[in-house]
Amino acid sequence: MSSIFTKIINGEIPCYKIAEDDKFFAFLDINPLKKGHTLVIPRKEIDYLFDLEEGLLAEMMVFSRNIALAIEKVVPCNRIGVVVLGLEVPHAHIHLIPIDSEADVRFSNPRVKMTEQEFEDLAAQIRKELQ
Ligand code: AMP
Repeated sequence: MSSIFTKIINGEIPCYKIAEDDKFFAFLDINPLKKGHTLVIPRKEIDYLFDLEEGLLAEMMVFSRNIALAIEKVVPCNRIGVVVLGLEVPHAHIHLIPIDSEADVRFSNPRVKMTEQEFEDLAAQIRKELQ
């Protein structure tokens, strides 16, 4: 069975898309730790990030960098934190999280509540910065 993230890539499940190319896809985390919390995934459904072939992993970091630079332009923050857990969804993903302090990346923190409109507007603003 396809992962929930593969279903997002295939358009079977909706998402707030930030960017995609032939190898990667980025979208807003539906339960953000901070506004702008974004997930970057490879199209290829591989559970564990470090099972990705070396070249693909390196390209994924470069793709993530472009997204992070765009998020930074929209969301005021000290920097974009980069986190890999992968305990919930078995499809490799990098969390990009706007942070001001270490406390902002605690996954036990309450999540930010956003309306559908806020998600859409934020995704549109970040997409604009990528152009
Ligand atoms: P983890 O696998 O522990 O790195 O966490 C998976 C992340 O995926 C969590 O931050 C979830 O909020 C996020 N997530 C799960 N389902 C969706 C979805 N349908 N759309 C966007 N983000 C999701």
